[in-house]
Amino acid sequence: MNPFVFEVGQLLRSGMPETLTQEGPAPQRIGPAMIAIPEGAEVRIDAALTPLGEAVMADATLHATLQGQCSRCLTALSPEVDLSINEVFAASEDFIQGEAAEEDEDELPVVVNDTIDLLQSFLDEAGLNLPFNPVCEGGCEHGDVPEPDGVSGETQGQPTDPRWAGLEKFL
Ligand SMILES: [Zn+2]
Repeated sequence: MNPFVFEVGQLLRSGMPETLTQEGPAPQRIGPAMIAIPEGAEVRIDAALTPLGEAVMADATLHATLQGQCSRCLTALSPEVDLSINEVFAASEDFIQGEAAEEDEDELPVVVNDTIDLLQSFLDEAGLNLPFNPVCEGGCEHGDVPEPDGVSGETQGQPTDPRWAGLEKFL
């Protein structure tokens, strides 16, 4: 069973909020290149689902173990991670149109066959929150490992992200 897919038919009909926990294998890899929840890894999702009449609001937290490599010393990393999302799924066309006009946002995800799929929300969240260059927690165990041949010393220390370089003078 896909732990990202939640049944909401009953919730929409009853109008009562529900809190559900689902566990199962990740249907695909979730995260950037160096560290991610691997496909098939066990994940747990705690979801608070609130009916909004023509929509469902999902407030959910995913717990999983990441697999990756330190970008400096290539030690295997397997930290635990919690990712939280908050997403509204439209249950009717009216809701989609009204909401889109108001918020000028991307299209809302929709309720399909009385279910909502939180996967895309978590893929987005993982892309935003997981590190692109993960490193060992508390520094690399082997100290400063020499860079592989052919790499200059510019990666030593904490390189300044070029996006923020121009901001440094303001800090
Ligand atoms: Zn390391």
